[in-house]
Amino acid sequence: MKADLHCHSFFSDGKHSPEFLLQRAKELSITHIAITDHDCITMLNKPLVDHYRVKVIPGVEISCNWESKEIHVVGLGVDHKNEALQSLLARQRAARRERVAAINSMLETQEIKGLPQYVKSLPCVSITRSHVADFLVSSGISKNRPQAFSKYLGKQGRAFIPSNWNSLSLTNEAISSAGGIPVLAHPGRYSLNKRQLNELVGAFKHRGGQAIEVSYGGINPLVQKNLEEIALSKGLFVSAGSDFHDAKAHWTDLGKFPAITARAKKNAVWKHSKWHP
Ligand code: AMP
Ligand code: MN
Ligand code: MN
Ligand code: MN
Repeated sequence: MKADLHCHSFFSDGKHSPEFLLQRAKELSITHIAITDHDCITMLNKPLVDHYRVKVIPGVEISCNWESKEIHVVGLGVDHKNEALQSLLARQRAARRERVAAINSMLETQEIKGLPQYVKSLPCVSITRSHVADFLVSSGISKNRPQAFSKYLGKQGRAFIPSNWNSLSLTNEAISSAGGIPVLAHPGRYSLNKRQLNELVGAFKHRGGQAIEVSYGGINPLVQKNLEEIALSKGLFVSAGSDFHDAKAHWTDLGKFPAITARAKKNAVWKHSKWHP
């Protein structure tokens, strides 16, 4: 078994189609894949999945707020027909559209026009600041994505608009009510010190969280070790995934992340009773 439980398609800010993900998974001998788009559930039709013979786990990655910080929660094995989850996701996507409209107004006052037309041409269901960054690059205003973020879209940028996400508790509740497993995504990426990280994992578990990602693309081995220790000490399941977005970013290719170590494997999320009724 080789699983990648975190990746994106062009229905959010990934570059590729869901079919491309399946094809790549097959090429790389990945047996289980969760497509976890930002704030939307990407469903694949059965003939396509049967063709590539890769097991697809319905997933999602939800942005939420915890103590004025932005945290991402992956939901694994969610029922896409669940109303509570779909209504939370619809609110998230509406907040995203409103945010991009406000960013557009800020850009227009700086004589940067054309974002709405650019957005209309995209296949995405969930709009993100990465799309806005791509617009700024493709129209020759910024050199690359990082520059688009530092000059315009990041906290210090000229077109920064804060996000308006749901809370961590509502997010975990919605995932659980849809029969999914709430997984704390990439905990090493929130710039937290040791005490804050422990506090976050504690709060996540207290609010119904069940697993944490202990490995992802580009993770430092010491961070992985620390995350595995935290998971084991708190009795949480462990998950792992590349956070794949784009085949050009080869350091986060599908399936490319350090394996969960032998010691933590006993808590692997695929051992959860959900999958073994
Ligand atoms: P959003 O969810 O709309 O806030 O968009 C977040 C996306 O923007 C994430 O998927 C990141 O990959 C990307 N992002 C955030 N900050 C930066 C940055 N400084 N440089 C490049 N990409 C960034
Ligand atoms: Mn993304
Ligand atoms: Mn994320
Ligand atoms: Mn992600």
